[in-house]
Amino acid sequence: MDMQSSTHGIDERIRWDPALIRKYDVAGPRYTSYPTAVQFADGFGSREYERYLLERPPVIGPLSLYVHIPYCRNICYYCACNKIITRDPEVAERYIVAVEKEVTLLARHFDQRRRVTQLHWGGGTPTYLSPAELTQLMHVLAKHFSLIDSPEREYSIELDPRSVDTGTIALLKGLGFNRVSMGIQDFDPAVQRAVNRIQPFDMVESLVASVREHRFKSLSFDLIYGLPLQSPASMEQTLAKVLALSPDRISCYSYAHLPDIFSSQRSIDRMQLPTADDKLEVLHTIIDTLTDAGYVYIGMDHFVKPEDELARALPNGTLQRNFQGYSTQLAPELLGIGVSSISSTADLYCQNVKNVDEYYALLAQDKLPVQRGLRLTPEDILRRDVIMQLICRMGLDIEETGARHGVDFARHFAREMEILAGMEREGLLASEGNRIRVTPSGRPLVRNICMVFDAYLDPSRQRFSRTI
Ligand code: SF4
Repeated sequence: MDMQSSTHGIDERIRWDPALIRKYDVAGPRYTSYPTAVQFADGFGSREYERYLLERPPVIGPLSLYVHIPYCRNICYYCACNKIITRDPEVAERYIVAVEKEVTLLARHFDQRRRVTQLHWGGGTPTYLSPAELTQLMHVLAKHFSLIDSPEREYSIELDPRSVDTGTIALLKGLGFNRVSMGIQDFDPAVQRAVNRIQPFDMVESLVASVREHRFKSLSFDLIYGLPLQSPASMEQTLAKVLALSPDRISCYSYAHLPDIFSSQRSIDRMQLPTADDKLEVLHTIIDTLTDAGYVYIGMDHFVKPEDELARALPNGTLQRNFQGYSTQLAPELLGIGVSSISSTADLYCQNVKNVDEYYALLAQDKLPVQRGLRLTPEDILRRDVIMQLICRMGLDIEETGARHGVDFARHFAREMEILAGMEREGLLASEGNRIRVTPSGRPLVRNICMVFDAYLDPSRQRFSRTI
């Protein structure tokens, strides 16, 4: 079945081919980075990061900041995030003091004139912080970095609808945020009870009204499929409510049930989980309903309204992807601040310690709280370029990419090209001269196409969620 998602120049139809979807329903990364975080090694700590920052050539261009706030008041059983469940108001106070220390240590290495064009607060629950603490944290950032107020900025914050009221929305707008994303997951009360995240439709509806009233540039919803008690029919009802609220962007994530790794998932009744076939049908329902409603499937879990800049960026070839999802303008360096946050530069990924006590201990010694990282080789950078083009452009110019990295693409990737030839025979790809194009049947499987170029993939040793 074809689903026409918009009238844009690029062929945006998605073809749902059940046989191919089943064949390629294997575990795989979501490629918010390449190499993925699994490859970051423990030998890269504070000293190595400091040295890297001191020795790297001067970088110009804007900056992107990510701040991780790990606290949540309640546990959502499906959660796989790095979070701490607490109701103690004092933890946030101490955390902000530590974040300020980290920002002070970090900012010394960055030209203060570099404009922060992207800012994202995630968690945990960023709005665990009180209004005064939210304000204090923004002031900490503003003191050390050039925050901007021009419309091109992408300043976003994750909202747990249960933790905010309309007053918080007004405050966030006043602090400079112009985008919000809300964790919706599912509107079905039975599903919400099964995952311990009760947030009635009315609650979300009034927050959405407030977001619109305060003229945020973008409102994004996160949904999860594969949760207990979900069915195609229940998802249809959830989607009807989602469409009634008309978010600008919708992300749909697959729930991966890994109770051995994420202990809270043990509270989920395995018998209530949809079967693999039902889960695929739920995804099919999501793609079908959202594209029928006019949303553009920009690839890898994300749908946007046709007038959204991400929809326009897809046919223009200017779409980009990082840890926070898709964007039209990625800064050359992303600085992660707070426990477990990841930083990335042209040739480095590194991640802060995940444990808050270790975070405090390193900062108390005036050390950047980095625990692991990865210096990228030219081969990593080439493969990252290939993977990001596939995800963001649904295609790849072989000759141009090879020339940019000084390799004969067809020879360098002889093994990969053979696998792609098989995928082409199956209908996932089409070759057009020097270009490879992901076909409508291949679009829901773009992760699997990217996996061909992942030199580190060893499915027997790694734990990823299923690709769809
Ligand atoms: S899903 Fe979000 S709000 Fe729920 S426990 Fe995890 S981080 Fe906290």
